[in-house]
Amino acid sequence: MSNNNKTAIVTGGASGLGLSITKRFISGGIRTIIIGRNKKKLLEAKELMGDLCIPHQFDLTHLADIPTLVQKIKKDTETIDILINNAGIHLKKHLLEVTDEEFQRVILTNLNAVFSISREAGRIMKKQKSGNIIHISSMAAQYGIPQVIAYTAAKSGIEGMTRAMAVELSPYGIRVNCIAPGFITTDMSNGAMNNDPQRKQKALSRTPMGKFGSPEDVADAAYFLVSDAAKYITGVVLPVDGGNSIGF
Ligand code: NDP
Repeated sequence: MSNNNKTAIVTGGASGLGLSITKRFISGGIRTIIIGRNKKKLLEAKELMGDLCIPHQFDLTHLADIPTLVQKIKKDTETIDILINNAGIHLKKHLLEVTDEEFQRVILTNLNAVFSISREAGRIMKKQKSGNIIHISSMAAQYGIPQVIAYTAAKSGIEGMTRAMAVELSPYGIRVNCIAPGFITTDMSNGAMNNDPQRKQKALSRTPMGKFGSPEDVADAAYFLVSDAAKYITGVVLPVDGGNSIGF
């Protein structure tokens, strides 16, 4: 599963699942560019991980600036072998209370930005005749979870785009896959779960393995999917969920 000397972009790579993926990549010799809005978080991650970690402060909702961002990264790193579309935001609210602006904000971050940066990285990967793109979905795209309407719409879109992108980019040697994490302990999920013990109990009760996952579980799956050990795998949505998606 060697990935030594590759270059990756991990959006949202300074915290939660993204930070864990970045750590795994760097421990495997992958130079990793991390993108986020919060400079302090980016610098802390850089401090933790050293020279192979390159922070870029950028707000992915600024779609028009994404081509320039990707070109700048390419100029600095020469290749872009891997793109992990991990950055995301959450909105927990009854659907009848969600405003159009709130819905749009979640879709912009969790779906539009994923498309735009994938298109830009895909153009570079096409020239290289190789590349790997991974999207991060959610159980919200597998079954109906209440109070996450915009998030569900975005993550369902991500899963459809995984298949569409895999089909169109396969001829260029680019694989596109998706990881659907189950309930994983991070700041984002703590926010959604800790104020809602009933929801937490429900998630646990339908997870056959009887526990929440760790960010490292997701990172290991990402490392596998971008490696040559997965060289004949494209267009899949891989649940990393302790069986949650098939639990009764
Ligand atoms: P976190 O909130 O810890 O991380 C989200 C990251 O996205 C942050 O680093 C944040 O950085 C970045 N981000 C958000 N908006 C933007 C933006 N506009 N531009 C650039 N960066 C942005 O969440 P998690 O680690 O829990 O989630 C990561 C991904 O995994 C998400 O896509 C989420 O939907 C998915 N997921 C998580 C699950 C869980 O149980 N934790 C379960 C299923 C899916 P900054 O604030 O600096 O901009």
